[in-house]
Amino acid sequence: MTRDECKFFVPGPTWVRPAILQEMTRPMIGHRSTEFRELFRGIVSDLKPLFATQQETLVMTCSGTAVMEAALVNCVSRRLLVTTCGAFSERWFSIAESLGLEVDKLEAEWGKPVDAEALSNHLRSRRAHYDAVTLTHNETSTGVTNDIRALARVIRDESAETLILVDAVSSLAGIPLFFDEWGLDVCFASVQKGIALPPGITVLAVSQQALARAAKVPYRGTYFDFLRYKKSADEGGVPSTPSIPHFYALAVQLDHILRGETLDARFRRHETMRELTIRRTAKYAKLASDRAHASATVTALAPVKDSEEIRSEMKKRGFTLGGGYGQWKATTFRIGHMGDIPVASLETMLDALEEVARA
Ligand SMILES: *Cc1c(COP(=O)(O)O)cnc(C)c1O
Repeated sequence: MTRDECKFFVPGPTWVRPAILQEMTRPMIGHRSTEFRELFRGIVSDLKPLFATQQETLVMTCSGTAVMEAALVNCVSRRLLVTTCGAFSERWFSIAESLGLEVDKLEAEWGKPVDAEALSNHLRSRRAHYDAVTLTHNETSTGVTNDIRALARVIRDESAETLILVDAVSSLAGIPLFFDEWGLDVCFASVQKGIALPPGITVLAVSQQALARAAKVPYRGTYFDFLRYKKSADEGGVPSTPSIPHFYALAVQLDHILRGETLDARFRRHETMRELTIRRTAKYAKLASDRAHASATVTALAPVKDSEEIRSEMKKRGFTLGGGYGQWKATTFRIGHMGDIPVASLETMLDALEEVARA
């Protein structure tokens, strides 16, 4: 396999363009230098249209899970509601428990989205105040996209003080998201999914209200303290040594997303990939998720044949597909179609998959 060919369809990490890999081999600069400050300021300003926000945008050197923990550390003093519909949304629950927070769970069935009416009923019947509610824009384990606009509106209608924390790890730059318009407070994505960089850093947007909340939380730790990041960002940098190669790559990739491909075309390409994948696999596999909420970045399929056998046959042909996740591990496999994957590469893979999965 050459570096240029895209035969990698795992729902994170995703295929990385050779030009991006090349960016990451540039020589080091000091992270307190003028060059770094320029690089940093360009990134922070390009992240604003990506999140559709005028508020604070930041970069942390860590994976997405770390920013889930950071969001809870900075925004929740006591009680939290976690909405779940699969393995990644459930991760919020285990992190909250590990921090000793009082945490309630509103569960949707795997393969279904979180229901806005159920959320509304829960918030009304449960008179206790929640410091925050967690939402997951795109549930990568099941291939379901939640209606964050509707869910956020329900939360805002119930309480102006409850913060809305959104995992957009596998949606940002692939599925439209409007941080300010939807009234979100913390939203983040590690870069190895829709942004299509190697794993290692996470980008986030933080509202003024979330920063104000953090200021009232007495012990926020050190590495994850949003206010330290905000203070450093105002000076054009980050609190401790970042993964500088990722910053090089991120600057180039944001330029590509916003001014090369453009966001609208990128969203359309992802929708095309979803429709192609669902249509071309229908003869030999059942879509595991609710059709109306099927994700534009990842498709979970329950095939007629054994899914591990399909994956190993595909591997022999040079194609890597994602396995099933969590409770769907044995019965499904997943096709990641996010990031920079060309539609033509997806079609080539689907041709091979048809031969393997139908026989
Ligand atoms: C991949 C993923 C995560 C975990 O992100 P890491 O960067 O691996 O920590 C969290 N949430 C969702 C929805 C994901 O797809």
